[in-house]
Amino acid sequence: MIVTDTISFQTGGDCDIVDITSQVARQVAESGINNGTVTVFVPGSTAGVTTIEYESGLVTDLQQVWERLVSRNIPYNHDRRWGDGNGHSHVRASLLGSSLVVPFTGRKLTLGTWQQIILVDFDNRPRSRRVILQIMGE
Ligand code: ZN
Repeated sequence: MIVTDTISFQTGGDCDIVDITSQVARQVAESGINNGTVTVFVPGSTAGVTTIEYESGLVTDLQQVWERLVSRNIPYNHDRRWGDGNGHSHVRASLLGSSLVVPFTGRKLTLGTWQQIILVDFDNRPRSRRVILQIMGE
């Protein structure tokens, strides 16, 4: 069986990190599927999905690493072409990736004790985000 759901929320942009673990866990628990995988996918080219231990130190560390890896203070061809100033946002999103697959058993995600699912919004302004959850299994 396959169940597709969406979750929606606002972000602040600029590497805002949102913990979506409880929403994903709830949709899996209510899907009617006992064992399988959930694909967590964010449509759009300026946000990404991954996991982290969601505590304020690490959240800040992950936010800060992007400035060292993909600085916003260099010229981007995307900005020259489109003038929207978020060339760094697109590159960061491509590096992080737009989806994550998490197995579940007995309607429970198999995440580690200190592992949460997060969306990172790299855009240079607040955004409304929609995340697709596709739950597959039996
Ligand atoms: Zn752009």
